[in-house]
Amino acid sequence: MASRIEATPPRPESYEEREGYIVPIFGGRKKKKEAAFDSGVWRNSDAAAKERLTPPPSEVDEAQRAYSSSRSSEIARDLRELVRDSQIVEAPGELQTFAYDASFETQLRPRLPEAAVIAGSEEDVVAVMKYAHEHSIPVTTRGAASGQAAGAAPYAGGIVLAMNAMNRVIEVDGANLQAFCEPGVVHAQLNAALKPSGLVFPPDPGSSKMATVGGMASTNAAGMRALKYGATSAWVLGLNVVLPDGTLIETGSVGSRAKQSSAGLELTKLLVGAEGTLGVITRLRLKLMPIPPSRAIVTATFDDVEDAGRAVQETFAAGVSPSAIEILDERCIQSINKYRPGMDLPSVEAMLLFEVDGNPEGCRADAEKISEVVAPLSREVEWSDEPERIATLWEARSLVGAAIGALRPGSNRAYCGEDICAPVSRIPETLRKIQEISAKHDILIATYGHIGGGNLHPGHLIDARDPDEIRRVLLVADDIHALALEMGGTITGEHGVGAARVAYMEREHGPALDAMRAIKAALDPKGIMNPGKLFPDKVSDSQPEGPASPARVGENAEDERQIPVPHPDGAAQKPRHESPPLE
Ligand SMILES: Cc1cc2nc3c(=O)[nH]c(=O)nc-3n(C[C@H](O)[C@H](O)[C@H](O)COP(=O)(O)OP(=O)(O)OC[C@H]3O[C@@H](n4cnc5c(N)ncnc54)[C@H](O)[C@@H]3O)c2cc1C
Repeated sequence: MASRIEATPPRPESYEEREGYIVPIFGGRKKKKEAAFDSGVWRNSDAAAKERLTPPPSEVDEAQRAYSSSRSSEIARDLRELVRDSQIVEAPGELQTFAYDASFETQLRPRLPEAAVIAGSEEDVVAVMKYAHEHSIPVTTRGAASGQAAGAAPYAGGIVLAMNAMNRVIEVDGANLQAFCEPGVVHAQLNAALKPSGLVFPPDPGSSKMATVGGMASTNAAGMRALKYGATSAWVLGLNVVLPDGTLIETGSVGSRAKQSSAGLELTKLLVGAEGTLGVITRLRLKLMPIPPSRAIVTATFDDVEDAGRAVQETFAAGVSPSAIEILDERCIQSINKYRPGMDLPSVEAMLLFEVDGNPEGCRADAEKISEVVAPLSREVEWSDEPERIATLWEARSLVGAAIGALRPGSNRAYCGEDICAPVSRIPETLRKIQEISAKHDILIATYGHIGGGNLHPGHLIDARDPDEIRRVLLVADDIHALALEMGGTITGEHGVGAARVAYMEREHGPALDAMRAIKAALDPKGIMNPGKLFPDKVSDSQPEGPASPARVGENAEDERQIPVPHPDGAAQKPRHESPPLE
């Protein structure tokens, strides 16, 4: 049966600002109060008054809406031979969900797949990959779509393989400190399941309640405690992976349970961080550790951000290894005071929060040591190892993600250029330069991050209905990525490259990018796995033969569905996305 082209959600005719909130107005079609569509993006205006509205994603353009459903229904018909009917999504209205992740990139450039499959088993994945390989259909794997780099968006159409229903913790092997699980397990759920055994899977993304372990492995996700425990890659012992041609392989110690191995190339490490461009992760053997019995927190405020940077170095020099060191810049502090006036943080250039964990005596000794070395540099220092006080001291850090919006009521946070990592010694300089970029483009930026490892999250506040602000915030992102490289850092500390940062890969990696491309071509010669991500097209790539570049896959697809990318400087700069079939 041909799939029906469903009406997209109604467009608001205008927007009004009411009590600091942006409210969509839908003309005479519905009562203003009810005006809404229920896609999950917009809510009714009562709810909007409670929760600041996200602006509409850029409209799925007419061309995309009106695209022929023939390819979609053809793929869905074939998929029905492989998986159950209920596992297939083909209606364009429902497929819209799969056009987005949490990035700004997908708000600007949503793209529907032709079909989505909710994978229920490894066998489903093998069957879908074999089919896709045979017919050269692009496949994009998706976890929870909490990614901020457009990694899970199907930029060449094709099939989205949703892994979130494969969410069993298959085994917790306490004796060997390991868990074996499916990729759709949500991080917080895994740790909740481990808690009774006194064990933890330590990577700790802020998106813990959303992110799947498959997505975390694929982006090599981290978090504030990566300072002590490392990113996800340090905690993956082995994987089951379905390669692009449908072959199922085991890597590392999936079978052996050995906690270390020198037997050959580390395929596990290669696949972790590959963002679904080399295969589909279907099982993971994860390393665990005992939950640290105790922790303590130190907070310190600084009149000068340079002193905050020095305080971090002095802490390490004193022989202390905190589990986390977090920084809030001046604007974050202002936002928290607006959002939660009772906190009454001092008006300073920076605030640091240190966490130490381990045995109680060690925590106390470490917290005292940090306080001692930081005190001469700071305005105020406080530490505690009492759970209630820890919660209070940590509150500023817990609130900052939500609080930033209070700096500009009604604004939206544009997640672009939001995840750089610079050398720790250059963080104060990097923070100052971010503020220069903010002034240059007249975009409000508040920055926080994991200063102990150099990972910064600049938060840009814009009015997403204003095309000029969109243009300027994209320039901000360009400048911030360039700044990261200028500082001797990287364009992404933990969120990954996806489509959002693909344009910067050449600059960051130089000739090493060709080595990555060679690996990609060897494992995915047809270029069907997550095209348009990680690997930029070569500008001079005019070879008519040889392995298809990933982005060329879409040439045979119905590319009229592509959404144009607004580019900050129009023709003056190279397009951010250079893939011919996608543009
Ligand atoms: C509020 C918020 C806070 C965040 N905080 C952090 C943070 O502290 N640290 C951090 O690192 N990130 C953070 N993120 C980003 C995001 O949560 C992580 O990148 C996370 O790892 C993505 O997991 P996911 O399941 O949502 O993956 P998705 O977004 O669905 O996918 C991400 C990438 O992985 C691929 N992929 C997913 N599953 C598989 C699989 N089974 N096999 C192969 N490829 C797969 C996708 O194709 C895509 O390229 C945050 C995001 C939000 C919204």
